[in-house]
Amino acid sequence: MHHVLYGLVEGHRKRRELGRVLTAAPADLATVDVDLARLYEEGTRALVFDFDGVLAPHAALHPLEETGVTLKNALQVFGAKNVYILSNKPSSERLEYFREHFSDIIFVSDVRKKPYPDGLEKVISLGGYEPQQVTLLDDRLMTGGLACLAAGAKFTYISKPYTDFSRHPFKESFFSFLRFFEMTLARFAA
Ligand SMILES: [Mg+2]
Repeated sequence: MHHVLYGLVEGHRKRRELGRVLTAAPADLATVDVDLARLYEEGTRALVFDFDGVLAPHAALHPLEETGVTLKNALQVFGAKNVYILSNKPSSERLEYFREHFSDIIFVSDVRKKPYPDGLEKVISLGGYEPQQVTLLDDRLMTGGLACLAAGAKFTYISKPYTDFSRHPFKESFFSFLRFFEMTLARFAA
């Protein structure tokens, strides 16, 4: 099944769980605000970053300077090869960027797109983690959030994602609509 259709079906089916995730999530949480040391203290051993909205605005080729700092901090806290990128758009430019600038970060590719749990399951098997030792930072409930529910991983909802409406007005509008839609659905179900 196409991942978007699967997301709608699963999102509707698991709307109550997503609602609970949303209710528990802090408002206006940006990637740079996430307390990485606390995640480690709470048992996380592998940190997985979504790309679009989490490391940069949509369709950017590489992370922003400030999220680059977060990635370096994450490597300090979790150690080399315990930090991952799981994007539904694993373009060759992005892969190349990480190979060159962050060779200790693993860019997951060749998996079915979120909300399928395949990418998180690949992380779990690559590092030999328990599912609940893996935390995904993602700005989408119906892709990242659902993938975490299915894989048994933890989810940190980035409620204040990066956007750049001047560069990609249609893409950004579409994704803010999606975020609004899934938040409304989850909120009503909670
Ligand atoms: Mg995203």
